Amino acid sequence: MKLPQFELHRPTTLAEARRLLEELGDDGSAFAGGTELLLAMKLGLIKSRHLVDLKGLPELRGIELRPGGIWIGAGVTHHEIETSTAVRAVLPQLAAMESQIANMRVRAVGTLGGNLCFADPNSDPATFLCAVGARLRATVRGEPAEFGAEEFTEGPYQTALGPGDLFLGGWCAAPPPGSAVVHLRMKIHERPCVTVAAMVEVGRAGVAAAQLAVGSVGPKVLQVDLGEELRGLRGAGFSDRVRSLMALLAGSIPLLPERQESPDYQRHLVRLLGTRALEAGLAGAHL
Ligand SMILES: Cc1cc2nc3c(=O)[nH]c(=O)nc-3n(C[C@H](O)[C@H](O)[C@H](O)COP(=O)(O)OP(=O)(O)OC[C@H]3O[C@@H](n4cnc5c(N)ncnc54)[C@H](O)[C@@H]3O)c2cc1C
Repeated sequence: MKLPQFELHRPTTLAEARRLLEELGDDGSAFAGGTELLLAMKLGLIKSRHLVDLKGLPELRGIELRPGGIWIGAGVTHHEIETSTAVRAVLPQLAAMESQIANMRVRAVGTLGGNLCFADPNSDPATFLCAVGARLRATVRGEPAEFGAEEFTEGPYQTALGPGDLFLGGWCAAPPPGSAVVHLRMKIHERPCVTVAAMVEVGRAGVAAAQLAVGSVGPKVLQVDLGEELRGLRGAGFSDRVRSLMALLAGSIPLLPERQESPDYQRHLVRLLGTRALEAGLAGAHL
């Protein structure tokens, strides 16, 4: 596999990066860590002759504590998120999830933006960010745009962004008091074949809210609001309802064709990990 020749452009402002990408059209690609892009170019799947390097753009770089939550720029690497004291303070499960991605070499250069914009279905962050209700910001045709994490990915290798659009970063609100976030995954080869994330919130009368996101099996993350189904439950009543809900969900979730794992095995993993994530969410949620 040989990397085709390309010209590297190094804009210093977001406006310059956008202008370059617009001018280059199909012949240009945004370039962050390059862990997906360069591989896709070697395989001839992406044929851009111009790469627009986003690493010099300060607007995409920061992790910031903001009132009520945390902002993570598109160009922040997985390793920076995993080791950030700000992330650990607001959403430690995000740091823990990031620490499981790939290996140290990929995490040191691969960015959150590259992960979400490449939209490989086997993504940990895409699933996690759906469960915690993250908001993703971008410039679309030069205008600011905001998406729920669940609407950003439209299918395998497809996002809501078009040519010349740039993902800017994601906002995660701090989980509400009395809640717990759990991210589970199963990995057979390099990347996860099932990812499940749950956020469970309890009140005095048992469960008050519950979100579940299931990714890496279907064309996009399936996000389900289980608040109505689980509200007021605790103990054995909660476990029984979760088991029957997960059996239904695992039986009906759309699966990607031509996976190495059989459909039955994938559905089994969805049921198992979904049940475990919700149970662990309830066990970890305290008022
Ligand atoms: C061996 C290996 C194992 C992996 N394991 C996992 C895993 O366990 N879990 C997991 O979730 N992921 C995994 N990954 C995926 C990894 O997380 C991504 O490769 C990485 O995050 C991509 O980021 P990057 O900065 O290198 O993106 P790049 O390769 O630079 O870019 C990827 C794509 O996104 C576009 N892009 C990048 N930034 C922007 C932006 N700001 N706006 C618009 N478009 C943009 C590029 O044009 C390109 O199309 C693995 C990858 C490898 C190679």
